[in-house]
Amino acid sequence: MTATSPDTLTIITTYQCNAACTDCCFECGPTVRGRLSLAAMRRHIDAAVAAFPGLRLVVFSGGECFLLKHDLFAAIAHARSVGLRTRCVTNGFWGKTPTQCRQTVRQLVRAGIDEINISTGHDHQHWVPVQRVIRAAQTLVARGIFTLVTVEMDTPDSHCLQQLAGDPDIGRLLRRPALFRLQCNSWMPFREAGRMRRMLNDKSALHRGCSQLFHNVTLTPRLELAACCGLTMEHIPEMKLGPASTAASMATRYYGQLEDFLKIWIHVDGPSTIITRLFGDAAREDLRDVVHICQACAILHQHPEIRARLQRRYREFVPDVMSRFYLRHHIDSGSVPATGAPVQANPDQERSL
Ligand code: SF4
Ligand code: SF4
Repeated sequence: MTATSPDTLTIITTYQCNAACTDCCFECGPTVRGRLSLAAMRRHIDAAVAAFPGLRLVVFSGGECFLLKHDLFAAIAHARSVGLRTRCVTNGFWGKTPTQCRQTVRQLVRAGIDEINISTGHDHQHWVPVQRVIRAAQTLVARGIFTLVTVEMDTPDSHCLQQLAGDPDIGRLLRRPALFRLQCNSWMPFREAGRMRRMLNDKSALHRGCSQLFHNVTLTPRLELAACCGLTMEHIPEMKLGPASTAASMATRYYGQLEDFLKIWIHVDGPSTIITRLFGDAAREDLRDVVHICQACAILHQHPEIRARLQRRYREFVPDVMSRFYLRHHIDSGSVPATGAPVQANPDQERSL
């Protein structure tokens, strides 16, 4: 991000999905209706380009963005035609047969896609067999498309990451690090029915600032702009910036965040550090089971006692936080993440092999 612009537009194309993972953050599923039209995606891409001079990347996510079929490929081609890099996040269901897989990848190549992220793991594999993910990854890499496979943190008795890492086809892909990466991501509990996950070995990343805020703007299927596409975004009303369909309204929504001290503080220090600074050692209990930065963010926004203390005490942190915010952006000014390098939603939460 430059001091004046996000570098990424994330388009949540639909909340519909062929899968219905128990702990899906957006509660997606086959019966969920509603999606963005091709016209709306094109219009918002153009508006974002006009509003944000530092914009470099469009991420198409969901739900399952490949359910949009030809409209997805047309939207990718449109983003490329206005000079942006493109990435899709998918569960890889379209890797069902070699023919279907090749056809899909051929259309991606024709559209000019730069990168595909495939999510898999314990919940995902209930809906999408891992063989489809492997086939999709092989076909993408064979056509020179950078592919990142992200595996949910395993349950105590599942071994999806280990099994993938030990697969001979994945082993061959891992020998091409310029085109393929495999990584593990925290998996947050949203429902009681969800399975417990293994704990992170290293929780230090949970105490860093949020790299999504100010770097990213998100368009939802309801044509609203959001501050992030974090896993709990739909559970934190403050992350919704409001409807925005023109360059002027997008800019107003985005730059309005500079009036919101809490967003700046989350960006600089992260939600866990904020809670700890407000409550000291007493925060340990609230944060004990937190496995993801967005989970801490939900606690920060939803816990009545934390909200009350924030209201009472935020002013004492303003000089320190604002000076670090402006210093960092002064240093970053003019620099954007290296295009071509994968930029993750919450890279601090991930572990690559
Ligand atoms: S594949 Fe992704 S979007 Fe679909 S239900 Fe699972 S977590 Fe949600
Ligand atoms: S921590 Fe997560 S929910 Fe909070 S602002 Fe960052 S990405 Fe969004």
